[in-house]
Amino acid sequence: MDRGRFLVGLTGGIGSGKSTVADMFAAHGVPIVDTDAVAHALTAPGGAAIPAIREAFGEAVIAEDGALDRAAMRTIVFGDAAARRKLEAILHPMIGHCCELMIEEATGPYTIVVVPLLVESGRWRERVDRLLVVDCPVETQIARVMQRNRFERAQVEAIIATQATREARLAAADDVVDNGGDAESLAPQVDALHRRYLELAGQRA
Ligand code: ADP
Repeated sequence: MDRGRFLVGLTGGIGSGKSTVADMFAAHGVPIVDTDAVAHALTAPGGAAIPAIREAFGEAVIAEDGALDRAAMRTIVFGDAAARRKLEAILHPMIGHCCELMIEEATGPYTIVVVPLLVESGRWRERVDRLLVVDCPVETQIARVMQRNRFERAQVEAIIATQATREARLAAADDVVDNGGDAESLAPQVDALHRRYLELAGQRA
C-alpha cells in the first residue's frame, strides 16, 4: 500500500471544467500534475517519446519540427485499435513515470493529479487516494467545447462517446464538484474540498 504523500485524482469529461477547477486548487498552493501536459511535453520537439514513436510508426507521424504530428497520428489510430494500443504502450508508461517523478518532487500537504480518463484507467484508479470528479450535464460539456475549440457538435459528441459516461464517473467518485452552474459557484466548493483534503492528508501523515 502506498504511504507517499496524499494524492487526489481529478477527472471529468471533456469540457466539464477540470482545468478551471485545477487552477483554483493551484491558487491555494496545491501542486498540480497534469497528465495531458506531460503527454504534450513527451511528444514535443525533442520529447522523450519521439524516438520510440518514430521507430513504431515511421517518419509520417513526425512533423517537420520534430514533434508528433497529432493530426497524422489521429488518422492512423482512428478506428485501428491495434495501432492505438501500440501508441498507448509507448506513451502510458512514460507518462506514468514522469508523473511519479513530479509527484515525488512536489511539495505541499497533498498533490492533485489531473487525469482526463482516470475512471477508464485501472492504473490511476489504484494509485490515487481520493477521486474527485468535476461534473456537469452533457449538453453543457458540448456547448463549452464547441465554444472553446470551435468544434462541430458531432465532433464533441464523438469524443464524449469514447469517454466513460457521466453516471460511471459519478459512481466512481469520492467527491464531486458541481460545475453545471456559473463559475462563481466553484470557489466555495473548492475551498471546502481543500479543507477536507488538508484534513485527510494530515490524518495520513
Ligand atoms: P476541461 O479541462 O474539463 O476540458 P475546462 O476547464 O477547459 O474543461 O473548461 C471548458 C471550457 O468551459 C473553458 O473554456 C472554460 O473557460 C469554460 N468553463 C468552465 N467552467 C465554466 C462555467 N462554470 N461557466 C462557464 N464556462 C465555464
